[in-house]
Amino acid sequence: TATDAAPLTLTDVRKTYLARGREPFEAVKGMSMDIRPGELIALLGPSGCGKTTTLRMIAGLETVTSGAIAIGDRQVQDLPPGKRDIGVGFESYALYPPLNVRENLAYGLKARRVRGAARQVDQLAARLEMSDLLDQRPASLSSGQKQRVALARALIRNPRVLLLDEPLSHLDAAQRQRVRRELKVLQREFGYTTIVVTHDQLEALSLADRMAVMNAGVIEQFGTPDEIYDDPANMFVADFVGEPKINLFEGTAVRRSGGTVVRAGRDGRLAAYAPAATDGQAVTVGLRPQDARPAHDDEPALAARVVVYEDFMEFGLATLEVPGVDGRIVAQLPHGVRWRRGETRRIAARPDRVYLFDTETGTRIR
Ligand code: ATP
Repeated sequence: TATDAAPLTLTDVRKTYLARGREPFEAVKGMSMDIRPGELIALLGPSGCGKTTTLRMIAGLETVTSGAIAIGDRQVQDLPPGKRDIGVGFESYALYPPLNVRENLAYGLKARRVRGAARQVDQLAARLEMSDLLDQRPASLSSGQKQRVALARALIRNPRVLLLDEPLSHLDAAQRQRVRRELKVLQREFGYTTIVVTHDQLEALSLADRMAVMNAGVIEQFGTPDEIYDDPANMFVADFVGEPKINLFEGTAVRRSGGTVVRAGRDGRLAAYAPAATDGQAVTVGLRPQDARPAHDDEPALAARVVVYEDFMEFGLATLEVPGVDGRIVAQLPHGVRWRRGETRRIAARPDRVYLFDTETGTRIR
């Protein structure tokens, strides 16, 4: 059932909301994205950053204030929603109340005179774990059930572009994991160019070919999950993506012929790979808990007092205090490293995993 997948291009798209008696509010401030045919893109960001507004502009449910949206080589920003060939899984709860779920799903297929519609509906329902819902009316469904029906309906309509807004948010944890996996398989099979809005970073990291991390109406970084996680462009992205959260603390760059070392706290030091840092520059250091490790004897390190050690069997989390460093530092340690409260331990990390940021602007120094 693969469609002719289309590229989707956003060029400097902006949205200013105007409400009577209020200042104009710019919710989306110049979004540009080149999305390849069949790609699955996640829009990730905190509440209010403009994710839903972006999706609604692409769908045609919201006008663009300026900028262009193209599907293939067709400009669509001035077309009504029905003329854009886009499937949406979010106004979704808009199922026809008098029809049962089976009829709701088959409706679009029948209209297009698709052969084997009944079988297609049954197969899709089985894969989204909703076979038992087919004979029910929309009114009797829970929010999680409605969500799976909405997803099925968006998928079965055979659009050139598929837009999903928090498609799994009402599912419980176990079902969410299974439906997420199936969604990815189905998206590959159908080949739709897809955008999924989510504020769940695991969902974004696991689903997406590429993801756009948004903040206050702008894209902070657009890249593969690996690029976003391993090579964050700035402090916002480093802080937003990663669990447990990245450690951020103040330091000073010291340039030597051998490379860069950052000093932190009273006598802490970490080797960093950051050729662009200048000697004596005040920086914010970013160290992911997963990248911190026990230091070797002869390498620069942070000496830290263990405040608490939590054993999760597969790994341990040490919460540490480094003299002179504000706040605590968390290190995720391999199984078997059992540090005790009150001990002093030395931690270090691979130099290319010690990120330096401009403290003022948040920009990465590399
Ligand atoms: P969430 O994850 O909470 O859904 P979001 O990233 O999807 O957030 P949007 O819903 O796109 O964010 O909203 C972006 C900003 O625009 C918010 O500050 C919101 O208050 C504002 N906004 C959204 N719709 C309107 C509207 N119709 N009129 C005025 N302001 C609006």
